[in-house]
Amino acid sequence: MLSTFEQELRGRIHGRRALTYVEDLVGAGDRFVGSDGDREAAEYVRAKFRGWGLETVDREFTTFGYRHTRAELVLPAENRRFEAIPPYFSPPTPEGGARGGLVFVGGGEEQDYDGLDVEGKIVVLQEVGLGYSRFWLGTFAALAARRGASAMVVIHPLPWPYRMSLEAGNGRLEHRFCAEQIPVVCVSAIDGAQIMHAIGRGGAQAQLTVESEMPEVGSSNVSGILRGSEWPDEQLIVHAHRDHGIHPGANDNGSGFGTMMEIAAALVGTQPRRSIEFLCTTAEEGVTPGVAAYIEARKQEGTLEQIRAAVDLDMFGVGGKVKLVELGLWPDVDPIRHTEWLMRRVEIVADELGYDIGRMTSSWGVAESGRFLENGVPAIWYWKPDDFYYHSIHDTVDKLDGNALKAVADVTAIALWRMANDDDLPRET
Ligand SMILES: [Zn+2]
Repeated sequence: MLSTFEQELRGRIHGRRALTYVEDLVGAGDRFVGSDGDREAAEYVRAKFRGWGLETVDREFTTFGYRHTRAELVLPAENRRFEAIPPYFSPPTPEGGARGGLVFVGGGEEQDYDGLDVEGKIVVLQEVGLGYSRFWLGTFAALAARRGASAMVVIHPLPWPYRMSLEAGNGRLEHRFCAEQIPVVCVSAIDGAQIMHAIGRGGAQAQLTVESEMPEVGSSNVSGILRGSEWPDEQLIVHAHRDHGIHPGANDNGSGFGTMMEIAAALVGTQPRRSIEFLCTTAEEGVTPGVAAYIEARKQEGTLEQIRAAVDLDMFGVGGKVKLVELGLWPDVDPIRHTEWLMRRVEIVADELGYDIGRMTSSWGVAESGRFLENGVPAIWYWKPDDFYYHSIHDTVDKLDGNALKAVADVTAIALWRMANDDDLPRET
């Protein structure tokens, strides 16, 4: 049963106001880790937290940034130039671009190269799944590089290109990149059909240009803490990443960010017994080095055990049902299981409020929640996996369903409140 206070708390949360935080975040511009927009967004969060009277803590770290100033694919004989997006961490092409014949290699697996000579050529690879099975491109690019290809083009199954990653898609940070890499771009399904037509006619030649850099950059994870009255040194964390794959990133992850800010605003002025920490991370894109740095800092400080639970708000403003990710799969580590008791706490609140939240398995890795779990901190992750606009320039605020943000904020705020005041909180992950 909801208490009077819980009903009042729910009443303070507004879906449309949550969207205004998303608009502000998007307004900071490009915010890949280390960019000016990333810094501006961090400053915005700090100012909000301070304005609300929360204690703020910054934890700085360094990691790889990425920016590309130019990416284009040209078929000179056809007089065609295609919109192209390199995956983050794609190396640049040599001066003057990569030139070569186009060779179609299907899904780009080992056996797809049988009988093909791709030496010095640009390989064209097609997404073969319904979803994003070729998101982690590192191993595919490494395979093409070992066969002697000079560059790679990936055809997305949707009418626009999207931003992938040239990381290997492994869970362990030390396995982040493959040794061999070549320049890669993504093109839309519509442009892909034109490219396939040119290949079908025979002798298609292309020129690919990627101008990019991958500097070492500094950034910070920003916390706003609502101090607990009885166990102030124990924290329940609710976190959302502010960076994106490509601007504007309204759903990924403006949706989680706006929801976190709305929860924070609703809880300001209350007195939980445990502390509630609102954590705005960055460098989630890729294999979450940002939150990994946060956890490392807490280990160094000797305060990691003070974290009693972590709730990851990441990407649920567009798509079907809101899900809790039960299981996350990486190729190089055992399946990562999210914390059952924590999922149950959230589901009980959702039931009481009359909301419908499902469960799912993520077959292409785990977001930030995985870093908490592998370090012994109970954790959960809310996600909607079916956003067509994912990592494209069409991930705009107008696509977001403010009601989904409201539902997640209602459930999370009340679940956090109960856990913050509970005498007996489990320790197991
Ligand atoms: Zn995300």
